[in-house]
Amino acid sequence: MSKIDNITKRWADIMSCIGCGDCGYAIKPAVGRYLACPVKEALGGESFEPNFARGRMGILKSILEGKITLGKDLVDSVYQCTECGSCTEICHQTQNPKIVLNTSKWIDHVEVWNALRQDLVENGLAPLDKHAKLLGNMNDSSMRNPYGEPKASKQAWARGLAGISKSADVALFAGCTYPLRIKETLVNLARIFKAARTSFKLLDDEWCCGSIALRVGDRKAAKATIIHDIEQIKASGVKTVFAVCAGCYRTMKKDWPVVLGADLPFQVLHVTEVLSGMLDKGSLKLKPSQDPARRVAYHDPCHLGRHMKLYDIPRGVIMRVPGTDYVELKRNKQNAWCCGAGGGVKSQYPDLAATIGKERLRDAIDAKAEFLLSACPFCVANLQEAAVAEKSSIRVMDIIDYFAMML
Ligand code: SF4
Ligand code: SF4
Repeated sequence: MSKIDNITKRWADIMSCIGCGDCGYAIKPAVGRYLACPVKEALGGESFEPNFARGRMGILKSILEGKITLGKDLVDSVYQCTECGSCTEICHQTQNPKIVLNTSKWIDHVEVWNALRQDLVENGLAPLDKHAKLLGNMNDSSMRNPYGEPKASKQAWARGLAGISKSADVALFAGCTYPLRIKETLVNLARIFKAARTSFKLLDDEWCCGSIALRVGDRKAAKATIIHDIEQIKASGVKTVFAVCAGCYRTMKKDWPVVLGADLPFQVLHVTEVLSGMLDKGSLKLKPSQDPARRVAYHDPCHLGRHMKLYDIPRGVIMRVPGTDYVELKRNKQNAWCCGAGGGVKSQYPDLAATIGKERLRDAIDAKAEFLLSACPFCVANLQEAAVAEKSSIRVMDIIDYFAMML
């Protein structure tokens, strides 16, 4: 008998699915012919039904009704989902207030997938091999990051930089990917703070935010790292902490209070909110551009957009950079196509992530963009790889790096 405590808590969401199939087949009127689920489309539109929400919901109903049990054959389709949340945007049981069932009219698909992943882990059917390696690194006391780097290397990027001060009243939560894989972006962030004559502080001993553990379904591992990080932020004395990574931001703002069982004793911002505030206050002045206008598009990271509804602030920051001719991708905001890297897909199913990334790059090519910006290191990396694979001249970069070009 399998343990299904977590999906049982999502009973109302699962039973609310009416099997309409819109999450797999509905055409989105706002964007034209495009469908909803990036994974279903990348795997072949008529592929295995559990590759998209309706099929998975049907299986979960049968499990809750005791007709079948959780099994290994479900695992690949569960972990191939990028948890992008596009199904939630199109589902009538999420969006249509006129449909009122006595179960739930607010299916939160991503939370159902997370609950399912937790039950797979608790039944020993997951984590999958690549995810297990990342979790092992995260739990290793000499690392505390999924990349397997020594703990001490996490602050190496910051040595001697202006813009970082122990007396600052805001703290940066750097995450793991930026300081261990894309240091230049954090160096640029420190330059921006220096130019605005302000500073941020670093936490003495920041661990992983716990996103990888939560997405994979290992809540026990996540809890230990989250509680540690919350204590570190409290000890730093700040009332505001900001994240540069969209995944950290979602995890800190949405998941940490759930894991803690209480509101956080500090405010969590995304770096684009901080940059927007600097521009509003006039503390940051950008050089006028002498170059011809650059055609610039923005890719909404799922963790920032659909998950957290932060759509306008990143756009506002980009549009205020001198010399920017902003162009909207056809699939944008709540209708944005996922980059393909989220939900642990990049590490476990890299070919699938690459296929989805190329499809997303196509939107930027169609928009004739010269720059494609994003605010998530996974989106940026996956879309950069797509640009190389497609021999595209589009420059894919982080908003922070684009912003820093004009200092
Ligand atoms: S999840 Fe929503 S859109 Fe998909 S089949 Fe169920 S009710 Fe329809
Ligand atoms: S979260 Fe995204 S990838 Fe997963 S089933 Fe929904 S639309 Fe598909």
